[in-house]
Amino acid sequence: MIDLILRNGFVFSDGIFEDHDIAIDKGKIVTFNDREPAKKEIDLEGKYVVPGFIDSHTHMLNLGLQIIRLDLATCITRQDALAKIKDYAQKNKNKVIVGYGWDESNWKKGEHYYLNKDELDFCKKPVVLYRRDGHMAVLNSAALKKVNLEKKDGVVKEEELNLLAPLVTPSAEEIKVALTKAASFAISEGATAVRDFVDLKTLKAYSEVSLPIKVAKSIYANEYFDGFQTGTNWGVKTFLDGSIGSMTAAHAGWKKDNLKMSLKEFASFAQEFWRKGVSIAVHAIGEIAVETAVEAFYNSPITNSIEHFELMPDGILEKVGHTVISSQPNFLQWALPGGLYDNRLGRTWLTKNNSFREFLDEGLSLAFGSDCMPFGPNYGIYYATSTPFENQKISFEEALIAYTEGGARLLRNPLIGRISPGFYADLAIFDNKYATDTNTLKNKKPLMTVINGKIVYESARAFADAE
Ligand SMILES: [Zn+2]
Repeated sequence: MIDLILRNGFVFSDGIFEDHDIAIDKGKIVTFNDREPAKKEIDLEGKYVVPGFIDSHTHMLNLGLQIIRLDLATCITRQDALAKIKDYAQKNKNKVIVGYGWDESNWKKGEHYYLNKDELDFCKKPVVLYRRDGHMAVLNSAALKKVNLEKKDGVVKEEELNLLAPLVTPSAEEIKVALTKAASFAISEGATAVRDFVDLKTLKAYSEVSLPIKVAKSIYANEYFDGFQTGTNWGVKTFLDGSIGSMTAAHAGWKKDNLKMSLKEFASFAQEFWRKGVSIAVHAIGEIAVETAVEAFYNSPITNSIEHFELMPDGILEKVGHTVISSQPNFLQWALPGGLYDNRLGRTWLTKNNSFREFLDEGLSLAFGSDCMPFGPNYGIYYATSTPFENQKISFEEALIAYTEGGARLLRNPLIGRISPGFYADLAIFDNKYATDTNTLKNKKPLMTVINGKIVYESARAFADAE
């Protein structure tokens, strides 16, 4: 007897949608003939079924902390953000205030400047607020004093953020709660697997919680230890530059030392890991960092990934080879005319960033992820399919592939990312308008998420009359 049959789905397999049934047994998709009985059947009535999303670039701890601490990502004006901070400070009188996700570029016209120390000095306790990109934070006077930093505007960037550890480091217990919250949120967005970047504490917490979602872990290079690579633990993460929003990307005309390692330094760094069979995920956003990463990986004996690959140097694509491009289509939210990238980089770069169309035309490996800005595969797919720029725009089906099987390789799991016999039954099921109603795609949530054949998430009204 087969465990479960999903009847009459409009199913994404082999790159197209087709009407068919899906049979699931012992957690995997199986071929079946109609005479075989099933323990349970669900009639999908033509609803869309796609492979569970694979988010190839996440920070699950931060996502969870943002949920359980102060979340500023949804604030659409400066007033909104400041009111939320004040309210939270009132309600959490004995705590250091740690917030996440503010993004001045999303606020009203005239408010496109960073939060600053003076605005936060109403609070006598330390306040630390991370900008959405995680590459900078703004501190109030009490927080600066605690960590012995002097900053007129309160802004702390890049490596100096490490000094904030005494104020922001979560307890072992808090990490476990955060990971659990993040996993619940991820499955409610239709994700069934993520690649997460972890430090030692987070790695330990993962071993002490049981989560419904598949998590592959890549560890920050400075915390790598021999013996790390077992099971789903794979590879190290490092950085060649910062972000566009914080102006710390390695971009021509910006600060020279935004490039954190020269080509020579990075190549020898990489070789040391490759000798041990460890692959590298390198953060590269500015065109100088992207070029450095591509050059260093050109003759690599193993497959590595370039995380973000945003600004594209001319003539680079033919050198990318088997390196996986790990992109965030949701970053296009800042890449529209008049947006953050336009302001920071100028018009010419609007057609030379996040060039998904060109990556695919070149036959390169493209994996989509969110970097949790925000977490939400459909939010990214919306931008990749609706962008006005030719170099970026890809089809809905291509975007689905990048957000599903595109990531399987990075997660070292050849049995995820497709709806096909032998693969894990990891699925996201959407309503009948999923692929056709572009107005709702951006915030579209699944009706049901299935992992290893088990329903791990179901929206309240999803299948009230099923079975
Ligand atoms: Zn990241």
